Amino acid sequence: MKKFAVIGQPIKHSLSPRIHSEFAKELGIDISYEAIEIAPKDFNSATKQLLENGYDGLNVTLPLKELAYSLADEVSQIGRESGAVNTLWKEKGKIFADSTDGKGLVEDLLNNQISLKDSNLVILGAGGAARSILPSVLSLHPKRLTLLNRTFEKSRALVDQFKASGVQIQALPMEEIPEGSLTGVINTTSAGVIGEDLILNQRIFQKADWSYDLNYSKETTYFNQLAKDAGIEVCLDGLGMLVGQAAISFKIWTGKRPSTNRVLNLIKSSL
Ligand code: NDP
Repeated sequence: MKKFAVIGQPIKHSLSPRIHSEFAKELGIDISYEAIEIAPKDFNSATKQLLENGYDGLNVTLPLKELAYSLADEVSQIGRESGAVNTLWKEKGKIFADSTDGKGLVEDLLNNQISLKDSNLVILGAGGAARSILPSVLSLHPKRLTLLNRTFEKSRALVDQFKASGVQIQALPMEEIPEGSLTGVINTTSAGVIGEDLILNQRIFQKADWSYDLNYSKETTYFNQLAKDAGIEVCLDGLGMLVGQAAISFKIWTGKRPSTNRVLNLIKSSL
């Protein structure tokens, strides 16, 4: 039996154990998958111990993704560009790491017939999630990418980091609206989830075809409700990304790629 876990703090509401168990059932693989709470101060010793004591792979979530990046001996290119990773495993005595969040997002967009090529895109937020999706988003060649963040310096730092990507990338203060008609607006902020309002110029929605909120909930998310109220019809949430990133981790660990639609529908109906 293969043994996996998701680690984070807090962790008890994580959907990952359910998602991975469903993948394993579908593919006929015998696994166990637990949710283990680890505090940042204990991260290095606790994680090494898990990997030495029979865990074949670990998913890493808030607030441990940067620590996981620092702990790993070998990190994928996307993980290096993100400075954070969500998937760990051990091979030949070394800890390997990858970041599957961005790939999960772009797969979910493609599943919903959304192409980023030549798009005029906005990403709201400049925290860990924005950084982890940027390499994958830029690899799909949008025409222009605008980052809007409450703390402007953080979005400007991201622009500096990714300016060599070949995509026209700019940072603007949160209340500003980029020029031209927009293809889509991706929300990576935690406003709403943490009970705070998102200070945003609502006119941004009038210029966009779709919205994507990395957050998810049973009902329409706070951000997607703002988008809907402003007239956007295509409003997607991050549950598809969550299941997508899990499927990519599962493939890294087992060599087998689960399909995502059935599990996504199952998880959606159980929220
Ligand atoms: P961070 O704490 O690193 O970043 C939070 C971001 O939200 C920052 O840019 C912050 O701005 C911004 N923000 C917070 N409150 C407000 C507000 N009231 N108004 C405007 N901006 C605000 O978190 P992460 O980037 O790691 O995660 C962001 C969200 O994405 C989380 O809710 C998380 O659950 C979700 N997520 C979903 C995933 C999925 O698979 N669907 C995967 C990963 C994350 P500032 O810089 O000014 O503080």
